[in-house]
Amino acid sequence: MVVFQKNDEIKSFVTELKKMGHTLGFVPTMGYLHEGHLALVREAKKICQAVIVSIFVNPTQFGPQDDFERYPRDFERDLRLLKEEGVDAVFVPAVAEVYPKSYVTYVTLKGLTDCLCGRSRPGHFDGVATVVTKLFNIVRPDKAFFGQKDGQQVLVIRKMVEDLNMEPEIVTVPTVREPDGLAMSSRNAYLSAEERKAASVLYRGLMTARAAFAKGEKKPERLCKIVVDILAAEPLARVDYVEVRSIPNLDPVEIVDQPVLLAAAVYFTKTRLIDNVVLDPGKGL
Ligand code: AMP
Repeated sequence: MVVFQKNDEIKSFVTELKKMGHTLGFVPTMGYLHEGHLALVREAKKICQAVIVSIFVNPTQFGPQDDFERYPRDFERDLRLLKEEGVDAVFVPAVAEVYPKSYVTYVTLKGLTDCLCGRSRPGHFDGVATVVTKLFNIVRPDKAFFGQKDGQQVLVIRKMVEDLNMEPEIVTVPTVREPDGLAMSSRNAYLSAEERKAASVLYRGLMTARAAFAKGEKKPERLCKIVVDILAAEPLARVDYVEVRSIPNLDPVEIVDQPVLLAAAVYFTKTRLIDNVVLDPGKGL
């Protein structure tokens, strides 16, 4: 496994891979890896001949009040895990490599980003779209892998790829969870023991709403209320949002007669966690 810090170095490596005709899979991450990230890597390994992972805590997707400075980092451990998975190359650029002082160009979506996490974190998806565009241009993957856990992010990336005629095929990987249902996240490291225990309420809320949906509840506001009520019973939880939105356009819906995303963001004291489930009437969950 080779580790690159410079754009030109990884570009040359990719050129060599392409000459060999390898299908190239790419997994962008912010590091502090867990089984969720590794599921993406394994899926990439399964369907691609070469796999590149990036580790970059992207400052432009963090707001001024966000946790950029204290975002957890453990570079050595990350490299060890990726080596064990048989990754071909890791790209770990410095901030100045991605955004030199002279940097001025951003990618902005005019839709899809004014709800859910986009509303709570203004500018967040501009940062995501910008860094993913840059990474796609540098790595030129055939396939890029994203987690269902960040549901809005996947839809934003898919739309950007469609709108800007980008090459990579976007592959979505199901959310990997802890035994109590909590979605794995690098931010789970912020939780105290008490908060960690409380945090499973988020998945419990979503599952309860999904069960109600399976029994015939099709009204978004009722489905959301089920989640909100369960969260309200947990003193450490504070709701940021619970929303039902259409897939893939994230429009509000009056009745769930098409696949929707039931998504939630919840603070446990200062730590904001997100999760979602897809409710698909066609599948009769
Ligand atoms: P991050 O390092 O948090 O930016 O995440 C990098 C990629 O891993 C994104 O595509 C995430 O959606 C994905 N990811 C993070 N947590 C999980 C999880 N629990 N299950 C599946 N994918 C995940």
